[in-house]
Amino acid sequence: MKRENFLQPLQKEIEKIGRIIKAPKEILEGLKEPKRFVKFQIPVLMKDGRRKIFWGFRSQHNNALGPYKGGIRFHPKVCEEEIKALSILMSLKCALVNIPFGGAKGGVAVDPQDLNKKELERLSRQYVREIFPLIGPDLDIPAPDVNTNEKIISWMVQEYSKLSGKFNPGAFTGKPEKLWGLKGRKEATGFGGVVILEKLKEIFDLQPSKTTIAIQGFGNVGFHFAKFAQEKGYKILAISEAEGGIYLKEGLEPEKVLKCKAKKGKIAGCYCRGSVCDFPGGKDISNQELLRTNVDVLVPAAIENVITKENAPRIKAKYIIAMANAPVTREAQKILEKRGKVIIPDILANAGGVIASFFEWQQAQERNLWERKKTFENLSQVLSKAFDHLWKVAKERKISLHKAAILIALERIIKATS
Ligand code: GLU
Repeated sequence: MKRENFLQPLQKEIEKIGRIIKAPKEILEGLKEPKRFVKFQIPVLMKDGRRKIFWGFRSQHNNALGPYKGGIRFHPKVCEEEIKALSILMSLKCALVNIPFGGAKGGVAVDPQDLNKKELERLSRQYVREIFPLIGPDLDIPAPDVNTNEKIISWMVQEYSKLSGKFNPGAFTGKPEKLWGLKGRKEATGFGGVVILEKLKEIFDLQPSKTTIAIQGFGNVGFHFAKFAQEKGYKILAISEAEGGIYLKEGLEPEKVLKCKAKKGKIAGCYCRGSVCDFPGGKDISNQELLRTNVDVLVPAAIENVITKENAPRIKAKYIIAMANAPVTREAQKILEKRGKVIIPDILANAGGVIASFFEWQQAQERNLWERKKTFENLSQVLSKAFDHLWKVAKERKISLHKAAILIALERIIKATS
C-alpha cells in the first residue's frame, strides 16, 4: 500500500469530525497540515571514506497544548506523507490522554541494519545538528520510535547538549536511566497496552487464563505487551515480526522467545525447525496467518496499514488493540466495525509511551528522579481516565471509539487554539 493513502484519509477524518463539532473552518484547515515541516539532507561519513546523503524529516504539527512532541524513526520507507500523518496522530494522542504536549514526528529514510555502529552514531548526531534550532525542551522534544532506541537517543541528547553549551536532558525523552531517563519508560508503551487490556477485561468480563492473544511485532512494544499480558495470566498464542512468526497452542513465553531471537536473529524457528517442533502444537506462521489466528485479542504492534480491506473480513479476534501507529486502514476499520469488533484506537492504546515521556520530561525539568512504581501508577491513572472518558463519549454519542477519540482530541486542541 502506498504511504500517501495514510495521510489523506486522516485529513478527511479531521474534516468530517471537525464539522460534527462545528470547528471553525480555518482552524480545521490548519490542522490538516503540520505548522512546520522540514526535509533536510544528512551527510554521513561512511566506513569506505565516502560521504553519503540520507534524507531526514521533522514534522511539527501543532503546539496549542504544549511543546511539539514525538519520536524519530529510522526506516527505509520513511517519507513526507508518512511523517506528516504520524505527527498529526501525535497531536491527537497527547490531546486525547490530556498531557500538555503538541504533536510532532521525525524520521530518516534509512535501513539501520545497513549501517555499522559508528555510521549509526554519526547519522544520529548529524540529524540533531541539522535541526538544532528547531528543537528543545520547551519547543520540540523528540523520542524513540520505530528502529530507534535509548542508545540513539543518548547520542542525540549528548549532541544537543554540546551544541547548546549546557547539559540539557529535557530536550529528548526515552533516554537511558544514567542520562536522566525515566525508570519504566522503555516498558511504558507495552505496559499501557495491558492497562487497556485490563479495562476490556472489566467491561467484557474476560478471564485472563481463557483469553488468547496474537501479537504482530516483537520490538520494544510487542515484547513488553506480551510480557505484561503473560504476567497478568493471559495466554499468548502467536507472535510474529517482519520475517515471520510462531504459534504455540500451549502459549508462548515472551522471555524465552526474546532469548531465542537474540541468539538466532529472528523468532521464526524458535520452537520449530522446519516441520519438527520442540513442543506439540507449535508451528511457524506468516504475518498474514498471525492476523487471522483464532484468538480473542489481536495486537498489531509493528507498523501502519497492516490490517487492510483484504484481510479484515478474515480476522477472527473480537478485540483489536492497535499498539502500532495506524495499523488499521480506514476501509478495514469500517469492515471490522460492521463485524462488531471492538477496536481500541492507536492514539489511546499506544499512548503509554508518550505519557511516560511526559513524566520523564517533568523529571528532567524538576531534577527529581522518579521510582519505577510511581511511573507505572501514574501511567495507569492517566490511561484509565482517558479510557473511561473515551468509552463514555462513544456510548453517549453512539459513535465508534475511533471517531470518539479523534473528536475528543480535536475539541481540546481547537479550544486551546480559538
Ligand atoms: N514514538 C512514540 C509514539 O509514537 C513515543 C513518542 C514520544 O514519547 O514522544 O507515541
